[in-house]
Amino acid sequence: MSSQPYVTFHDGRSIPQLGLGVWKASNEEAEEAVAEALRLGYRHIDTAAAYQNEEGVGRGVKAAGLPRDEVFVTTKVPNELQGYETATRSIDDSLSRLGLDHVDLVLVHWPSPWRGKYVETWQALIDAQKAGKAISIGVSNFEPEHLDKIIAETGVTPVINQIELHPRFQQARMRAENVQRRIVTESWSPLGQGKSLEDERLGAIAQRLGKTPAQVIIRWHIEIGAVVIPKSVTPSRIAENFAVFDFTLSEEDKAAIAGLDSEDGRIGSHPSTATF
Ligand code: NAD
Repeated sequence: MSSQPYVTFHDGRSIPQLGLGVWKASNEEAEEAVAEALRLGYRHIDTAAAYQNEEGVGRGVKAAGLPRDEVFVTTKVPNELQGYETATRSIDDSLSRLGLDHVDLVLVHWPSPWRGKYVETWQALIDAQKAGKAISIGVSNFEPEHLDKIIAETGVTPVINQIELHPRFQQARMRAENVQRRIVTESWSPLGQGKSLEDERLGAIAQRLGKTPAQVIIRWHIEIGAVVIPKSVTPSRIAENFAVFDFTLSEEDKAAIAGLDSEDGRIGSHPSTATF
């Protein structure tokens, strides 16, 4: 298998382009999935305080027995803990649940604009980074106006913006907005929460390449330059989702996948109007 790619941030750090997502996994499931993924060669795990499985993730990381600097761990500050003091405490509590003295990346989970607190939350991340609690800092679900506001008010640009992105919701506009600001795009729900896997056109590409639909979709994210974090707690799928470094998509395949983009492809909430 070819070696896995890394993407470099504007702060000089880099992130393994493919990671394991663990949303909706229990502590026990996350522990096993993380240990298995790291055994298979994954070096990047995406969790969040809101997933309530940081303890399990931390146990899985420990069980793998890898040097700390070889594993990239991301967590996120939940919406209800936005605000300077509460976000600072949230990061401390995440570290203690993970059993780590720092994470590689911490994100503001959503802008949650109705709370009016994402700028001070971002300031808490800036100071957490200065205190050594996070190596890099970023955001999730930020629209251009939210990015511009935190950059203008703090002078600090997030390294990454984790957004909903999958073949039925390709986010060309938002990806270009990120690029303009030197922000890496990261795809959440990269498999469309499993729904994209049933698409016949993807199935045809997969069959021709001798790959599975999940592998074709993950490969597509890699080729568009996005960091990608498919979720599974099933060992065979965790392995399948990592076996994507020994093939490429042709221009024709990529054009076919571009054609799956849809106006109403969004699965999750719109970040500007979400009420959570
Ligand atoms: P996903 O698109 O990764 O799909 C996951 C589902 O697809 C699994 O539950 C499983 O049923 C299925 N699946 C996975 N691999 C498969 C395979 N090889 N074959 C067949 N089925 C397979 O969905 P997700 O969990 O929503 O997103 C991935 C990760 O993104 C999450 O775990 C989380 O870490 C992150 N996320 C972040 C946000 C955010 O707001 N920042 C929101 C949603 C998800």
